[in-house]
Amino acid sequence: MSRTRFFQNALNLLLPDRCLLCLLALPDARSDYLCEHCRMALPLNVHSCWRCALPLPGLEQTPKDVVCGGCRVAPLADRAIAPLTYTPLSARLIQRCKFGHGQREAICLSQLIATAIVLGYPEGLPELIIPVPTSFLNHLRRGGNPCHLLAKPLAARFKLPVVASSVRRKHSAPQRKKTRRQRLNLPGNTFTLRKTWLIGGTLAHEIQGRHVVVIDDVMTTGTTARHMIRLLRGAGASRVDLWAAARAETPGP
Ligand SMILES: [Zn+2]
Ligand SMILES: [Zn+2]
Repeated sequence: MSRTRFFQNALNLLLPDRCLLCLLALPDARSDYLCEHCRMALPLNVHSCWRCALPLPGLEQTPKDVVCGGCRVAPLADRAIAPLTYTPLSARLIQRCKFGHGQREAICLSQLIATAIVLGYPEGLPELIIPVPTSFLNHLRRGGNPCHLLAKPLAARFKLPVVASSVRRKHSAPQRKKTRRQRLNLPGNTFTLRKTWLIGGTLAHEIQGRHVVVIDDVMTTGTTARHMIRLLRGAGASRVDLWAAARAETPGP
């Protein structure tokens, strides 16, 4: 266990009712673990592209199916939601969820996603949730998959099954350590459908004809999501949506 995670776990035990961002004592048990001030300071992604959640700040309101320039040419998902933009403040929550195995941060972020869903999802919820997988090596290093951490509270809230076993991720350097060009050039075989020994095929039957949603923690270039979505559509999903905690306003460096 890293020193940071040990310190964070100890802090959670000793100070159970503190705001995740400023450590201020919370007056009552807040289910999102944020004080009023930090909640108000969150960089909300209010108006965004219907298909990739790219912030569209010039809009007064987001009409249904408004899309960014990129999605007019090549739409990403059938519906994309990301309640936050990616700023240093939202990055603190996401990075702790990613590297500190932060259960509380995951609950806080999933609540924001859930609110965005309740407010802007008139077309019916997906039938199953598929978290973006981590590679076996990264799973061991981080002690889990942050996207799975985000998926669990959403699955409980909307009574949806999580299918975390269908897709396998090939190991590569973490996305944050790559340049924009390297991220855009993610190899086509990064995600594959897992094989099953019993029927000698893949687990595509779990996806076929289903309306599914991919859960990601943060989207920058959207390349990871695009590969996942292409794989799931290729496996026969009838519709693929995308829910992420945060979306970069401009593609990363
Ligand atoms: Zn606070
Ligand atoms: Zn878009």
